[in-house]
Amino acid sequence: MEFLAHICYYRKRGVDLIIKYRDKPAKIAGYEALLKRLPAHHAKRGLIQEKLNGARAGLGGEERLDQLLESFDPPYPYLVLQGVELPGKCQIDLMVITPSWLVLLEVKNIAGRLRFTENPSALHQLTPAGEMKGYKSPIIQMETAEMKITKLLKQLNCPLRVQSAIVIAYPSQIVESVPAGAKVWSADEVLIQLERLQMTNSSISASQMTALGDHLLSIQDHYNPFPLAPKFDILPSEIENGVFCPRCRLKKMDRLLRIWECKSCFILSGEAHFEALEEWFMIHKSTITTTECKEFLGLPDRDAAKRLLKRMGLEERGGRRHRQYVKRMEK
Ligand SMILES: [Zn+2]
Repeated sequence: MEFLAHICYYRKRGVDLIIKYRDKPAKIAGYEALLKRLPAHHAKRGLIQEKLNGARAGLGGEERLDQLLESFDPPYPYLVLQGVELPGKCQIDLMVITPSWLVLLEVKNIAGRLRFTENPSALHQLTPAGEMKGYKSPIIQMETAEMKITKLLKQLNCPLRVQSAIVIAYPSQIVESVPAGAKVWSADEVLIQLERLQMTNSSISASQMTALGDHLLSIQDHYNPFPLAPKFDILPSEIENGVFCPRCRLKKMDRLLRIWECKSCFILSGEAHFEALEEWFMIHKSTITTTECKEFLGLPDRDAAKRLLKRMGLEERGGRRHRQYVKRMEK
């Protein structure tokens, strides 16, 4: 239960509040690893770089909102859950629970001019470079999430009302034609909008709020974006093998007796293969055999590969001849 490390309980005005902090999206590390291991002129580099830029910008926007919310100080207790992943691919960038409302916020950090279209619903971006791009409508995404959560609250017999909004991370993003009824807020007005929410009689107690927050975190269903190579139709043979130097990043290390050495900056490392194996699981597949490990890390023999794999704390499957080491997805 790795995510518990990112949850904080503290008392404010006599109420136990939970804050669940955001994890850096795993796909950012995955795209970085894939770019590191693809040849300089590979045809898919541009697409992966674009995905990486988008994921980094998305995280930047979410972190800006997290920061703004640190100064949220309403006269009622509240919980903040950052980056919640509920079953059915229902990902919420930020969830605020108050005694009367459950607020869902989806943050957009896409540069340039943004236009919401209807029939069909989409989001069009005119990039600063003058290029047009289309995205799934975040309004539909939020309405779907709102529906799912409303249903969930009903099942839990919870009287909270649900409100969703799209948050534009920076004022430099120019938004046009927001459909009537849709809520699109600037990051700077989120606190005011939250304070304005009317508290009603049908509210829940602070301990019920904590119980609801605990429940939502306990049913989280983490989306696994890996392995990336098959998703991008990249063949295993197109991906570079080897252990990269943790200092100069670009040079591959050599295996000496029980240690890795970079011939370029002369550093020694006993653990450089850990990162390489993590990259294997992000790029290739969730399992590895001793033969695959020997090839990927550039080890002299399978016994050396077996020794390293045994120390990785991986699940072992299959008999002696067909043993596979499996990376479990952390929940
Ligand atoms: Zn080096």
